Amino acid sequence: MRIGVLALQGAVAEHIKMIEAAGAEGVVVKRTEQLADLDGIIIPGGESTTIGKLMREYGFIEAVRSFNTAGKPVFGTCAGLIILADNIVGNEQAHLCLMNMKVQRNAFGRQRESFETELWIKGIDERVHAVFIRAPLIKEVGPEVDVLATHNGEIVAARQGTLLAASFHPELTNDFRMHSYFLDMVKQAAHSSSST
Ligand code: GLN
Repeated sequence: MRIGVLALQGAVAEHIKMIEAAGAEGVVVKRTEQLADLDGIIIPGGESTTIGKLMREYGFIEAVRSFNTAGKPVFGTCAGLIILADNIVGNEQAHLCLMNMKVQRNAFGRQRESFETELWIKGIDERVHAVFIRAPLIKEVGPEVDVLATHNGEIVAARQGTLLAASFHPELTNDFRMHSYFLDMVKQAAHSSSST
């Protein structure tokens, strides 16, 4: 399995390491043509305005949308979660508009810009150490979205079919269970497209 990490801006090398630790090949993605050889892609953390602008400039908005429409999974972490959403609080322009959720950027305020905690993740069904850095929150989700984790009652991880989103940075620990969870989604997607 070949999993790309969108490398326009943000935390790329760490995701590649985790993909490989979880047993797949990690590919640094800088051009849309590379998507054709991938089974799944991760949009990393960083700065969502910058990532969104560069995605537009390099044709990644349409390319990643078609990639997902073709049944291939996409995982957005932190800024990548914001990129996946179809609604951003404050009427900011949404980017991929793939996931039916309303997100709030920098939702923890200045006092708690960065922190670490343990989260119970549905599907992994264990506690996972989670690192939050100027993280967004998912304020509302549509009926097709499955909530995977909450922190103080607020949604911090969710899944909608072949789309996975996490407010935190699963690439910044030594624990690759979130990446393994994504790889399972990719395997399932590959299986269902070959059997149809
Ligand atoms: N605060 C950033 C944004 O709004 C996201 C932070 C991150 O990815 N660590 O884009």
